[in-house]
Amino acid sequence: MKILVVNAGSSSLKYQLLNMENEEVIAKGNCDRIGIGGHVSAKTGDGRALEADCDFPTHTEAFEKLVEVLTTGETKVIDSMAEISAVGHRIVQGAEVFKETCLVTDEVIDKIDSLAELAPVHNHPHALALRACKKVLPEGTPQAVVFDTAFHSNMPRKAYLFGLPYEDYENYAVRKYGFHGTSHRFVSAELAKVLGKDLKDLKIVSCHLGNGSSITAVKDGISVDTSMGFTPLDGLVMGTRCGAVDPSAITFVMKKHGFTPDEMTDYMNKKSGFLGVSGISSDNRDIQAAADKGNERAQAVSELLTYQIKKYIGSYAAAMNGVDAILFTGGIGENSPEVRAAVLSDMDFLGIELDAAANNVRGKLTKISTDASKVACYVVPTNEELLIARDTLALISK
Ligand code: AMP
Repeated sequence: MKILVVNAGSSSLKYQLLNMENEEVIAKGNCDRIGIGGHVSAKTGDGRALEADCDFPTHTEAFEKLVEVLTTGETKVIDSMAEISAVGHRIVQGAEVFKETCLVTDEVIDKIDSLAELAPVHNHPHALALRACKKVLPEGTPQAVVFDTAFHSNMPRKAYLFGLPYEDYENYAVRKYGFHGTSHRFVSAELAKVLGKDLKDLKIVSCHLGNGSSITAVKDGISVDTSMGFTPLDGLVMGTRCGAVDPSAITFVMKKHGFTPDEMTDYMNKKSGFLGVSGISSDNRDIQAAADKGNERAQAVSELLTYQIKKYIGSYAAAMNGVDAILFTGGIGENSPEVRAAVLSDMDFLGIELDAAANNVRGKLTKISTDASKVACYVVPTNEELLIARDTLALISK
């Protein structure tokens, strides 16, 4: 059985085709630059590849190209789309409407689109891709939607409510939603498996650290708190996002620069974070290299990031009345021994003891704490596409 996973952005359509018998990737790629030109990059599991410029006025043409690269030419892996049992889509914002994975209907697409105000960069493109996919797929191919927010949908009120007038929650749905839920759900379940325990018996702090970063407190298998908020801007300092800032500083900076709300949103999302603080780059590798050479602002970024992660771990240990395990995932979490070591140093008050030799690892499921450590610390590679495919398979098998 083959499942296609689609992750649509405003100008891109990333995909993976998975064989669910062995969960291997048959093909993957990206139809990019939608609306501003068009480019396809496609790879097959057996090493064939294609890069080509195209013309993608809308998501429909991008989806047609996706079908073409899967079914014809150099990167052909299937004879026709009829071989695909279902399509699973990653959706960023489900708000309080979608609390779990569901099958796609016209009503579901309209609802996802109607949530665009809460996720302007993501939900409308998701709806465009869902409609394009429906047009291009053989009649009757089931589609499922898997929401980034769903894993956080059982957070208690004390974790999701803001100290704004309650009417803003009631009238405008202003609250913490949390994101990266698919990743946090995948890696916490993987960790429970490795520990040989039921997820329901564990208190885990899950650190997804990448270009976008979030930390989640997972207690008894439920996300009880998470660092991203109303949008994926809250919480940790990120590649180009500022993370949590005193709200008064925002209005102050807006006045100083004469920014409109949209300009300020852009400033906080695209010009801040590692890039804004360092003035060098949004990429952790560049920051690390510059910090090693003595660049003070790059060093400030590393300090900010690791200090903030440390504080989240401490606060989530308090929120859960303990922590059994801490896991690191995402580009930085999986690949930066330096960040992990800085985060886990001086944490002996929690009984954390890092195994420095084991921590010298990249991208591999690894225990990085000593056997004596009271908290098990792990690197757990994430795989959101696989979880979306598994969810889709479970739904169509029902
Ligand atoms: P992601 O958004 O999960 O793809 O993560 C991207 C981030 O991971 C970027 O900041 C990269 O610099 C960082 N990253 C990737 N590989 C490494 C590495 N080997 N060492 C340190 N950081 C890395």
